[in-house]
Amino acid sequence: MSEAKYDLNPVDVPPVKTKYRRIRTKLPVPESLPVFQALQGSEPQSMIGQPPVVWDRAEGFQVMDRWGNVWIDWSSGVLITNAGHGRKEIRKALAAAMKKPLLSTYVFVHEQRAELTRALQALAPDRTYQVFLLTTGSEAIENAIKLAKTYALDKYGEKKRYIVGFQNAFHGRTLGAQLAGGIPALKRWIVDEGRTFVQVPFPDGYKNEDISFELFLKTLKKLKVKPGEIAGLITESYQGVGPDFLPVEYAQGLQSFCREHDIVMMFDEVQSGFGRTGKMFCYEHYGIKPDMIICGKGISSSLPLSAVIGRKEIMGLYAPGSMTSTHSASPLPVIAAVENLKIIQRERLVEHAAEMESVLMPGLAEIQGKYSDRLGCLHGKGLVAGIQAIKAGTKQPDAATAQAINLKCLHKGLLMFAPVGVGGECIKIAPPLMIPEDALRESIDVLAEACDEVLG
Ligand code: PMP
Repeated sequence: MSEAKYDLNPVDVPPVKTKYRRIRTKLPVPESLPVFQALQGSEPQSMIGQPPVVWDRAEGFQVMDRWGNVWIDWSSGVLITNAGHGRKEIRKALAAAMKKPLLSTYVFVHEQRAELTRALQALAPDRTYQVFLLTTGSEAIENAIKLAKTYALDKYGEKKRYIVGFQNAFHGRTLGAQLAGGIPALKRWIVDEGRTFVQVPFPDGYKNEDISFELFLKTLKKLKVKPGEIAGLITESYQGVGPDFLPVEYAQGLQSFCREHDIVMMFDEVQSGFGRTGKMFCYEHYGIKPDMIICGKGISSSLPLSAVIGRKEIMGLYAPGSMTSTHSASPLPVIAAVENLKIIQRERLVEHAAEMESVLMPGLAEIQGKYSDRLGCLHGKGLVAGIQAIKAGTKQPDAATAQAINLKCLHKGLLMFAPVGVGGECIKIAPPLMIPEDALRESIDVLAEACDEVLG
């Protein structure tokens, strides 16, 4: 996954002033450069990959800097702020906790922890699922893998040891998460691959045109992995590089396979959960019930929090006090998540995301159709979509074009994170779910203009 690099020389851009966007300076803002210089001197370059905007305020579906520029946000952070940035209800609840004060508890109990675990349990396939709160998505992935392997080991012994994942999968940047992931460039550093983590092709229909479940079985055979040796199967509910979704039949094939061989089925909803795709969880589109659901990002729309929601017999494998993490259920993130879930439900944001799909996808399809030799593929559901930039007439990723379009949008007051995808070719679209229809339409027009200027 190559991160785009952005030039820090300020350029003149035409001023923009609409209901929702304002651009009134050169970009990057000349006065903001000392901040970037300070970071370049004190941080590793790996942290510097995003469009050069210094965020000062973010509210609802807009991001503001200190110099009067206002962007419509198509990033949601990186798919964090499903309920919107800086929601009043979340700020109010956090302010109350700070006033008490109650800022940390280790794993001692506080009331909102019970409120949140009950609320998340209510979202699970049934009430027998349990909830373990953690801090980052990667940490939750690590925990799910550990539980799946422990379950298999205790029940069947060491031969049931493989974790099967998918090529092009992203589950985070820690060791277990990268072993389970399927982007070879990201896990070069591991050197000894571990041998019990294998990946099979993801049936995205574009990069891999064979979407049959047969390919899954054939690949395992080729890898010499027998079904009885598999402890767990892990997949993002949609792959972030696309976004690429599982065909329903394929997902159901996976479920039958996992049930037949007692394989723990783990669905990574870190990016896709909490309404993003027009369902509370993306796996619901497939008519399946994962054994473990891994959550993060949109769970709080703000502070760092993640969760593993899983079947009781798996979640309960470790003795009291032996599966803790210092900041598990830390009060402020938990309070933020409780309020976030209330907003998502009260404002029917899951339904709104589903409705807005019928505005977003036709709008994007028109843009992609106009330049189909350079914009190879459009996938999306609810309020997440991706357009892949390609070298004309091929399926070769074109990261430079993706970045040029991304930068044009930035100059016009539409903010996206840097292109993603296996080769940095994917222009990813993920506004906060509370974006109103007129702002969504305005932002689609901005993307169309940017594409006309770059590709026309
Ligand atoms: N899984 C998925 C699908 C993700 O998109 C991410 C983060 N982009 C992670 C796991 C890792 O989450 P975190 O960065 O919070 O560790």
